Formats: sequence, structure tokens, C-alpha cells
Amino acid sequence: MEIERKLLKRSSLERLVDMMRSDGNMIYAPQKKETQVVFDTIETFADMTEDYIVSNQSPKFVAFPKIEKILDFSISQEGIRQEGTQLAAFPPVVVLGCRPCDADGFDSLTAIFNWDYKDELYNERLKRTTLISISCAQKDDYCFCTSVKGHPGSTRGSDILLTRFDGGDYLAEIVTEKGKALTEKYAALFEADPGIEKDKFLAEVKPRFEVEGLVQKCMGMFEHPVWIEQSLRCIGCGACAYVCPTCACFDIQDEAAVSKGERIRCWDSCGFGLFTIHTSGHNPREVQSQRWRQRVLHKFSYMPERLGVIGCVGCGRCSRACPVDMNLSEHLINIAEV
Ligand code: SF4
Ligand code: SF4
Repeated sequence: MEIERKLLKRSSLERLVDMMRSDGNMIYAPQKKETQVVFDTIETFADMTEDYIVSNQSPKFVAFPKIEKILDFSISQEGIRQEGTQLAAFPPVVVLGCRPCDADGFDSLTAIFNWDYKDELYNERLKRTTLISISCAQKDDYCFCTSVKGHPGSTRGSDILLTRFDGGDYLAEIVTEKGKALTEKYAALFEADPGIEKDKFLAEVKPRFEVEGLVQKCMGMFEHPVWIEQSLRCIGCGACAYVCPTCACFDIQDEAAVSKGERIRCWDSCGFGLFTIHTSGHNPREVQSQRWRQRVLHKFSYMPERLGVIGCVGCGRCSRACPVDMNLSEHLINIAEV
């Protein structure tokens, strides 16, 4: 749909939070907790922080929880009974104040979770989620969204994108039918287009590499020695995957007592040595360089080739979180140049 522009005054956003909560929505927003900024439920607008660059954890957990029950099962003389998760019980969720790159990350996840098998848990949770992002007025040296087709004011992936301008009010860009339905429901809070040019309120993130060329190059680099050189200091901790808005690896396990239990899935990481180990003991990715190669090629070669999306939105979280300073954008520049 064509993007509509409205004015959302700061006082109206405060009221919007109250009204959406009264209507039964769970509202997740960035909050300062000790040294971190994390997405958690808020009760009022005042609980939220806007003074941050990128949160430590991405908000992807609203559609892809860290740990999620898939089904309950029991075994008796009558046979095996299994009962799937009740999708209708998922609550309506609003993610408020995520960054454009976070919203973009859901497009990558959607492509993964609908590649061959349609993941109804993910799809149902996302269907009940409305993303109200806020454009970036700040950036740091880890941000590289503009190198992977993103932008500090990109509307891609958001249902509504807010851009804060002088005086603290917001330009609201209504991007999707879901966003439009929300603005129609709370129509009294949204006013006529303020007519501002949003670009001057955005951070400037200069592109660092040309991604189409990088994707083409990665396609022929499986045996290249660069993976060994780059991964020498990677300790395989998996932090990069756990903070990433587009990483979708998970493990499935049965948590069972004698005759009943539940099947759960939980986040996993291709950076872990045990991730690909077979029951026989054979591990097709035996060394860390093969795991690092998988991480980079999955995002910059396999996903573009198979799903038509890049598996990275340039948020820089992986590099900020890495305990040994593996800087993804520097490594990508290096790959583009070798
Ligand atoms: S966070 Fe750093 S050290 Fe840990 S697996 Fe990722 S790249 Fe390796
Ligand atoms: S790979 Fe790193 S920079 Fe890219 S989306 Fe994931 S966390 Fe962000």
C-alpha cells in the first residue's frame, strides 16, 4: 500500500500506549536495565527509553521465543497422545520503539520460516504482532545498515515508522494494512501530515561495501583460506547468533518424565562445535573456520540465493557482543577485497 503520513504528538503516543494496553495488547519496548537496553513489557510510555542506539538483544523473540513448547505428549496403554500449542492463545503484541533494522530482521526470519515448511508458531505470533519502529537519530561505528540495503529511516518491515522531530513529536509513516488498522482504531490520536522532511532528523550511516558484489563473490569462496585467517580468534561462544535479529537456528528436545512430557525448541547457534555433530560422532563442521564460513555464507550467499533476502540487516550487534572483537563489517570488507 502507499505509505500515509500523519502527525503523532508525544502526548498522543503516551495515550496510545495506555489505550493499546487497556485493549489487551502486550507492549514490548526498549528499557534500560543496568548496563543493557533490552526489550521488555511496559506499563506506561515512561517505562520506555528512546536514548539508545541498538538494544543488546533484538526483539525477534516476540515471534521466535528463546524457548518455546511445540507440543505436549503422553504415552499410555491406549497409545500415544499429543497436543499441539494452542495458537489462538497467543496474545496480541505491539513492539514499540524498535529500530528499522530490527523490523527489517523480521522479513529475513519470515523468509527462513516459510522456505519449504511453513512454521505456524512463528507465523501466528508475527501475525499478532504490530511493529511500531522509531528511526535512528544516533549510530555508532558498528552500524552498517546502509551496506545491506537498509537505512536509519527505512520503513521496510515496520507496520508504522515514527521519526522524532524538533519538539519531540513524531512523523508517523503508516506502511502496512496492520499499521493502518491501528491508526484507524485510535484515529483521534493521529493528526494531519506535519509536512516535515525526515532525512535531517536521521543519523548518517555511510555504506562500507557493495553488497551485490559481495554476494556474487561469496558464491565462489567455499574453499578460500580467508575463513581460517578470520576465525583464528573465534572461541565459538555463540553470542553473535543469540543477539542477532536474523539468526533462526534452533534445537528440538523432549523434556520428559516417565510417561509424559513436552517437546520444546530453543535457540541454537551454528558457531557451536556440537551444532552439527552426528550420533556416530562424525562432525561435518569439525573446526571453527568451517563454522565461521557457515555463518557468513549462510547470510551472504545461501539466503540471497535460496530466499532472495540477505541474512543480515547491519545492526552490528554481533560485533558489539563478541568477546574477542570479531567485527563482521570489517571481515566483510576484507572478503570483498581478497
Ligand atoms: S561472538 Fe565472536 S567468539 Fe563468539 S562465536 Fe561469535 S564470532 Fe565467535
Ligand atoms: S549478522 Fe550481526 S550485523 Fe548482521 S543482523 Fe546479525 S547481529 Fe546484526
